[in-house]
Amino acid sequence: MTKVALLRCDSYTLPVLKERIGQAMTLIGFEPSIFNGAKVALKPNLLSAVSGNSAVVTHPLFFRAASEIVLENGGRPILIESPAVASLDNALDKTGYRTIVQDLAIEVASSGRVKSLSFPEGRVFRHFEVAGELLDADFVLNMPKFKTHNLTYVTGAVKNLFGFVPGMRKSQMHMRFPDNDEFSEQLLDLYGAVVYVMGRAPVGILHVMDAVVALEGQGPGSAGTPRKMGAMLMGKDGVALDYVATRVAGLDVRRVETITRGFDRGFSVSGPGEIEVVGESIDHLKIAGFVPADSTGGAHLLRRLAASKAVRDLFIARPEPEEDRCILCYECMNICPAGAIGHAGPGTKVPVFDYRKCIRCFCCSEICPEAAICLRRGKLQWMLRL
Ligand code: SF4
Ligand code: SF4
Repeated sequence: MTKVALLRCDSYTLPVLKERIGQAMTLIGFEPSIFNGAKVALKPNLLSAVSGNSAVVTHPLFFRAASEIVLENGGRPILIESPAVASLDNALDKTGYRTIVQDLAIEVASSGRVKSLSFPEGRVFRHFEVAGELLDADFVLNMPKFKTHNLTYVTGAVKNLFGFVPGMRKSQMHMRFPDNDEFSEQLLDLYGAVVYVMGRAPVGILHVMDAVVALEGQGPGSAGTPRKMGAMLMGKDGVALDYVATRVAGLDVRRVETITRGFDRGFSVSGPGEIEVVGESIDHLKIAGFVPADSTGGAHLLRRLAASKAVRDLFIARPEPEEDRCILCYECMNICPAGAIGHAGPGTKVPVFDYRKCIRCFCCSEICPEAAICLRRGKLQWMLRL
């Protein structure tokens, strides 16, 4: 059984937000003194460089309220985020986050450090490249925004962790899994990887969701429409939290693969019967007429096109071993999930790659101890210098 706190929250007023966050912590039995001395990775949703009031990003005052609570309890916060469609610098400036991180002297993770995060139980991915600072953190404070999403139907706590994957790698993973079911499995693999690493005693992960003003319609970006939802949610289980938020929005939970498949994974709960909603009831805060995303729209069509091998070859880089570095250890061959790598042939000094089988997961590149596998741009990437 896991608890999800659901509280009414009608405005972005700093004292009110802090009071609600504190109240939610009490309701789920979270003791904020756990932050004392801990390096806390703050993970808001900073999808792009837009206004902080746009409902595309976690509201800056929501971020500030949670950050101040971490600081007041002796935590050492670090903001970790990789916007999907902007540089982090631009996103910080445009959303209003820059002033907050400067005021509170919050460290911002550099975009250049990347480390490998493993999850041996992963279904489609067992290794992820993530911001290096994540692995140095003791605790993750995940601060998703509740929004519709034209592929995953909604985006909440589980999907928000995708921002730990640096920019270009995120795009490649999107291209690699153009369909919702596989993409959602991959998101759950990442969720499992983060929970598994950060959940080590005595610290862990906490999700606190900004659903004060949500995004409906063609989310998750600026094509969506802000919609007042009047709620704040908190829980230790991201799948359970997304379930409650989706119910409050009046959307069909069965269409959210990260929830249905998340229950199936059984990270901590295996169904709604194991969720205790504390604070307000779902029925009390439920809103009517929340507009879902149209998952048959243009973005979805593009993703389906990307499933084509020919299109993939044009747009996605392919791994190529370099003779002068390769020591023929064959770690790449052992990890390749597609069986696309074979022994070096007579007269060759590198393993043989079969690009008809290669699914562009880049596990070989990640694991190579000699950094001998370079990523050669797709044909159209060369032409367009993408
Ligand atoms: S892992 Fe790297 S060094 Fe080892 S065989 Fe593959 S390319 Fe060569
Ligand atoms: S060869 Fe292709 S499928 Fe195999 S590990 Fe490398 S990127 Fe993945």
